[in-house]
Amino acid sequence: MIDRDSTLDWMGRFAGEMGEHRQELVRLDTAIGDGDHGTNMNRGMQKALEKLGASEQADPGGVLKTVAMALVSSVGGAAGPLYGTLFLQMGTALAGQSEVDLPGFAAAWRQGMEGVQSRGKAQPGDKTMLDALGPAVEALEGASDLDGGLSAAVAAAEQGMRATIPLVARRGRASYLGERSAGHQDPGATSTFYLFKSAAEALAG
Ligand code: ADP
Ligand code: MG
Repeated sequence: MIDRDSTLDWMGRFAGEMGEHRQELVRLDTAIGDGDHGTNMNRGMQKALEKLGASEQADPGGVLKTVAMALVSSVGGAAGPLYGTLFLQMGTALAGQSEVDLPGFAAAWRQGMEGVQSRGKAQPGDKTMLDALGPAVEALEGASDLDGGLSAAVAAAEQGMRATIPLVARRGRASYLGERSAGHQDPGATSTFYLFKSAAEALAG
């Protein structure tokens, strides 16, 4: 079962990953974008930790909504609103639940992903964060227990992230490069892989 404290641990670990991998994400975004993805995500998650520390959240949904607000208000560019939408929709799906099981968690991810899709209009294969998110959400939905689902989701997100390398970007800044965007891993798919990696570390029983 996922509760408020393990959700706080998840967000703390994700913030840690964004700090640790800031330069990697900057390097990836310098190749096919404007080089700010690592600094954007690191700044946003530091703000999120500040906000989480400054108020009490009742449950996992409350934690995720607080993170969403922090990201939307502190991160410009594409990723702030997209991750903000992901966490806000997940938090909305989980509203009022103090303990979340695998089906509830998978349903929240599905709602979060749909939010990202309706906001960003990207399709699978467009070389965006959705290419890591989609396979990972499907892995969670197909799992029979939380621990198995989390590790399958990490593997699927990693594979989806690597599969963005040959793709030509059709959404976001990288799409301005056309064919020249091929041969580089998508920065947003990479941060999404770290989101699942930190989830598995914090939420597995
Ligand atoms: P910006 O592109 O505004 O500089 P970031 O560099 O922080 O913002 O984020 C770039 C990432 O955002 C991309 O690598 C991609 O994964 C994701 N992204 C951009 N546009 C979209 C979109 N329309 N739908 C889904 N993800 C997107
Ligand atoms: Mg950028």
